Amino acid sequence: MIPPGSTIGILGGGQLGRMLALAAANMGYRVHILAPEDELPAGDVAAEVTRADYTDRAALRSFAASVDVATFEFENIEVEAVRYLSELVEVQPPARALEIAQDRLAEKRFVSGLGGRVAPFHAVDSLDDLHAAVAAIGGPVVLKTRRMGYDGKGQARIMQPADCAAAWEAIGRQPAIAEAFVSFEVEFSLILARAASGETVIYDTPRNRHDDGVLAESLIPAGPLIETQRAEATVLAKSVADELDYVGVLTLEFFACADGPVFNEMAPRVHNSGHWTIEGTRASQFENHIRAVCGLPLGSTALTAPRVRMRNLLGDAVHDWQALLADNQAHLHLYGKSEIKPGRKMGHVTWL
Ligand code: AMP
Repeated sequence: MIPPGSTIGILGGGQLGRMLALAAANMGYRVHILAPEDELPAGDVAAEVTRADYTDRAALRSFAASVDVATFEFENIEVEAVRYLSELVEVQPPARALEIAQDRLAEKRFVSGLGGRVAPFHAVDSLDDLHAAVAAIGGPVVLKTRRMGYDGKGQARIMQPADCAAAWEAIGRQPAIAEAFVSFEVEFSLILARAASGETVIYDTPRNRHDDGVLAESLIPAGPLIETQRAEATVLAKSVADELDYVGVLTLEFFACADGPVFNEMAPRVHNSGHWTIEGTRASQFENHIRAVCGLPLGSTALTAPRVRMRNLLGDAVHDWQALLADNQAHLHLYGKSEIKPGRKMGHVTWL
């Protein structure tokens, strides 16, 4: 057990790190952030900050010496850096979870190997591969880069074989995965926290609405279709977590289809679709991640209200902050980012 008063290292300095650091501080921990960017939403609320590349071994060595345990909040950290850090200090979740989640092909193979339902998919390393994949799938296809894609970036839609060349160019001719286009009713996520003992708690499954590939809103209750698919999604998420000997918060995203939940992707970390848990549950995803990583008993995921709604403040929507402060039902969170860009996650608001 890492007791309160200890220091938790976090690789990554965005809003997820910020909310993890706030939860850690509430429980009496100090946080040390390591990240390369100049502006660090997490650094503003942490006891210590190291500005360094994740691959800077000297920086990782002194970071490791200054923390009692470490975790990460960003998915595209070089796995070698996390493995190196793991030799110096305990790091949770395990590096293998990060390695699988970073590669859409490895992720789909891993999850379908555990019995998860996934859209038919094919590895694509060339335009020829893509033509073959589109012919095999035989309908609309989504082409995604294997690595570094997020919020709908690094993706192209293929409606007919003639679109292949343009799609291959659009994603920058990189190793990719071609997936059948899933016709789904709604999207949802399954968020769990797992302790080293194997004890697992599951949050209510929010219905998620995306705009242009970016999460716009999460809603509880999620509605009857998702609620009937929750049990199957939970079995899969638990087997993913058990297989990885996972410690911390893990998120799986699903499409709710007529014949059951179709796994889309996983994140080995706290997730935007779980921000509503800060006010909407007894112990938020951030608190439970800190509890799990520090070996404390997990907290209750029970709802604090029958209905919860989280809306992201993307880009210019952050200008609504004054009106939101005037709304007594709204819990406003701003991330302290100075530059407003279209679609950038500037903050969020939760209504109970
Ligand atoms: P991703 O980056 O994989 O989470 O994709 C971003 C969003 O694009 C998803 O939340 C879906 O709304 C949509 N999307 C991704 N893959 C597919 C697919 N195979 N079929 C239909 N829609 C998809």
